[in-house]
Amino acid sequence: MNDDHFALTRCFFCGGSNNILLATRYHQTSNHIMVPDHSLKPYHDKVIDLEPCPKCQDYMEQGIILITINDERSDEGWEKQHIPNPFRVGGFFVVTEAAIRRWFNDGMIEWCLKHRWIFIDYKAAEQIGLTHERKDTHEDK
Ligand SMILES: [Zn+2]
Repeated sequence: MNDDHFALTRCFFCGGSNNILLATRYHQTSNHIMVPDHSLKPYHDKVIDLEPCPKCQDYMEQGIILITINDERSDEGWEKQHIPNPFRVGGFFVVTEAAIRRWFNDGMIEWCLKHRWIFIDYKAAEQIGLTHERKDTHEDK
């Protein structure tokens, strides 16, 4: 199988590889080889997947994922985009619901408990003491 036939999507939350997109429509060439109608090669690692990867699903069951951003360096109106893409500064934390209830206001608590993740400005994260427990999302294994 060559990589025209599939592409890995990127997890929106941790940036890790997530689902595999498979080519579904094929046609036969003159020498009886089946090739995909559309090569998936250009999509490899480019498709952002809002479906959490298994690792993030696990985190979301255990707690709430906080992803640190720099609001000032983000594009204006990022929060209104279909796939919000603020300027991330690399912090990735999983915290308990109890912590969320302690730190945030009602509207944010409700959002966090429903969606199981939230972007947080790095300054706010520092204020609640998260920077020292910074978790590198690429060091898992
Ligand atoms: Zn993930």
